[in-house]
Amino acid sequence: MFDKVLIANRGEIALRILRACREMGIRTVSVHSTADADAMHVRLADEAICIGPPASSESYLNVQAILTAATISSANAIHPGYGFLSENADFAAKVEESGFVFIGPSPEHIRLMGDKIAAKKVAKDAGIPVVPGSDGLVKDAETALKVAGNIGFPVLIKASAGGGGRGMKVAETPEELPEAMKAASAEAKSAFGNGDIYLEKVLKNPRHIEIQILADLRGNVVHLGERDCSLQRRHQKVLEEAPSPALNENERQDICRIAAEAAAKIGYRSVGTVEFLYEDGEFYFIEMNTRLQVEHPITEMISGLDLVREMVRISAGAPLGYSQKDIKLRGHAVECRINAENPETFVPSPGRIGDYYAPGGLGVRVDSALYTGCTVPPYYDSMIAKLIVHGANRNECLMRLRRALGEFVIDGIETTIPLHQRLTSAADFVNGDYDIHWLEKLMNGDKG
Ligand code: ADP
Repeated sequence: MFDKVLIANRGEIALRILRACREMGIRTVSVHSTADADAMHVRLADEAICIGPPASSESYLNVQAILTAATISSANAIHPGYGFLSENADFAAKVEESGFVFIGPSPEHIRLMGDKIAAKKVAKDAGIPVVPGSDGLVKDAETALKVAGNIGFPVLIKASAGGGGRGMKVAETPEELPEAMKAASAEAKSAFGNGDIYLEKVLKNPRHIEIQILADLRGNVVHLGERDCSLQRRHQKVLEEAPSPALNENERQDICRIAAEAAAKIGYRSVGTVEFLYEDGEFYFIEMNTRLQVEHPITEMISGLDLVREMVRISAGAPLGYSQKDIKLRGHAVECRINAENPETFVPSPGRIGDYYAPGGLGVRVDSALYTGCTVPPYYDSMIAKLIVHGANRNECLMRLRRALGEFVIDGIETTIPLHQRLTSAADFVNGDYDIHWLEKLMNGDKG
């Protein structure tokens, strides 16, 4: 096992990784920008190294500074968390070339799945149903019109390098197509440095269902069930639950088995998430994420497994030590992503935290790096806490969740807690009756 792990991230996920390492007897090195000198991941680490000024490009994305920090602290391995460098194949390769272990999938798998067009082809070849669309890259409006003619309008233009919902545009009519392509490509070019786009059929009212995979270096692969991440705003997840209230047991078993078999077929290692849209009883692959996901805790709550611990063990060469039949999923879990934002306009609300009180009690978990008097800097993602609640069944889980949301105190800034209170009390949500558009309709006043 490793003696020391460097955590190349900040906020709640840096703390999450630090906690797993500490429980495993592994020493931790935190890196931080000057804006995060007083952050919790810095305070709790065995060692902390400042790697640059506030801007992410000069600190948390500064590959050379991170590798230098790993060298001077004599770390054995680097955990990237999510976001920042976690899906950067060149970073993963550089980590390994520099003599450290990258705690995550192989650089080859990260590269492959980071190219969504290639990933879709791999999925299709592995026997996974995909969303109908263009056969790869679409270069000009003429080809796009032909493809769109076949799949029917509206069509979705997506970025091959996409992520976080960026580089995605809908064209309702043939006339809109050229403009929408230009806009999607330009957005992708500026966000990812790659303007490649492809076309997909727009599914009207799907749910977003994703399967958690875990694989060791010896070819053992298990799945840990699904997560329903249909509650989204601008294609970004807001609340996730496991299991999905929409699937029956046969559908669940089938899609989980298909995802795990595909991961085994491509020789995948570490954690991974295979994402699908689900509509009218059918699943359609959209992408695979080659990292720990923000919403991983709900899977931990129902499986009893510590996914970060598993990632560390796997990277150190340990076998899974269990097979699919040993995995028992119990009860129901929900995660609310709490952002430092106005709950109606979503304008970011950084600043100094006044009173802070995190809810507790049976089945309640808060993953956050906040504390009384800390500052939420304006430079990074606005997610400041995740409230994760587990119950014996969905009903118990939701009652507990509303109780816990009511206890949460984060003073001094605006947060999205009121949004979560509103949505978790809405009848459709309580009935499990929602799709990827439901939350935006609720916010627009079209749902009660
Ligand atoms: P990103 O990597 O940018 O997050 P994804 O491909 O994972 O992009 O899609 C994000 C979200 O966008 C999905 O959860 C879904 O809400 C919506 N979406 C993606 N593809 C389609 C599609 N073909 N039809 C309808 N909605 C889609």
